[in-house]
Amino acid sequence: MNDRVYNFSPGPAMLPNELMLRAQQEFMDWNGTGMSVMEIGHRTSMFMQIAEHAEHTLRKLLSISDEYHVLFLAGGATLQFSVIPMNILCGKTSADYIDTGIWSAKAMACAEKYTHVHTVCSSKESGYQSIPDRDSWKLNEDAAYCFYTENETISGVEFQSIPDVNAPLVCDMTSSILSRPFDVSRFGAIIAGAQKNIAPAGMTIVIVKKELCGDVLPITPDLQNYQIQAKHDCMLNTPPTFNWYMAGLMFDWIDEQGGLEIMAQRNERKSARLYEYIDSTDFYSNEIPASCRSRMNVVFHFKDDNITARFVDEAANNDMQALKGHRVNGGIRASLYNAMPESGVDHLLDFMKEFARTNG
Ligand SMILES: *Cc1c(COP(=O)(O)O)cnc(C)c1O
Repeated sequence: MNDRVYNFSPGPAMLPNELMLRAQQEFMDWNGTGMSVMEIGHRTSMFMQIAEHAEHTLRKLLSISDEYHVLFLAGGATLQFSVIPMNILCGKTSADYIDTGIWSAKAMACAEKYTHVHTVCSSKESGYQSIPDRDSWKLNEDAAYCFYTENETISGVEFQSIPDVNAPLVCDMTSSILSRPFDVSRFGAIIAGAQKNIAPAGMTIVIVKKELCGDVLPITPDLQNYQIQAKHDCMLNTPPTFNWYMAGLMFDWIDEQGGLEIMAQRNERKSARLYEYIDSTDFYSNEIPASCRSRMNVVFHFKDDNITARFVDEAANNDMQALKGHRVNGGIRASLYNAMPESGVDHLLDFMKEFARTNG
């Protein structure tokens, strides 16, 4: 494992070494079949076994009840920004959106093609550096659903609890799913692109309440119709089989590590240690209020932004990759999904201290 680096990429993101080794071991010959998972037909009993195991383990990890479909669909989370309104407007003409960052804004722009998008609140004016107070939200009584982004991957802002609203809650959990336990029964639908915390890019997991499905917009392609996909076990056409398999390995890995409680403890420790150090220095800064700082993407800046490039270069020379912040925000972004070991944060902290000493 000596030539693996600490990869702080926001996505596609690193996967656990144990998982990668297992995939490597099974790559040419899955389960004594003499074939790679990539080479197995999706309707074979072999792949059915892989698919069912993945769904079963995910349902177990999140205690997902039979009231929900769990769908493994081709395409990214952005596609679901359009597919959600197509599927779950349920005859209504408006949906609520909580605007807390670039991903929420993209979801709103996509939904506008299909429904009236009502903005519940927005932190856009302040550069998406916080979540507006619950008291200031203007919810629409008639909304088909209320959409929010649990973790804004770009600015590093995260909801610390599930918001309380009357309409069915829809959440983009692409960069936070499986990072801690949560109550699925609070949601109408959850979407999560795979490439942050689950598997390689190209697949999205949708967890959706069955009772919300069925009354779709007439333009909805069958491939994007949740009810039809569920009826066909997401095999209306060829699904992204290898990604599905990798997702199953990830669910097994989380289970073997001790489940979501353990993930939550590790993720809390990793981010808390970084924020604690950042707050203790004048050299690094993070302006996000503590009540909504992301555990997944820790963003920080230097007083002199010219230092950023040097930090990124020197970190790369010290086995730490992909620390450059998003172009909109500048600075540094350390993404700390489940696969980032605590030793990666130790290594980053040691480097940050030394860098501050020599550049401060
Ligand atoms: C990365 C990301 C997306 C976009 O995912 P794609 O698969 O590239 O469409 C959407 N929402 C959030 C919160 C993300 O972090």
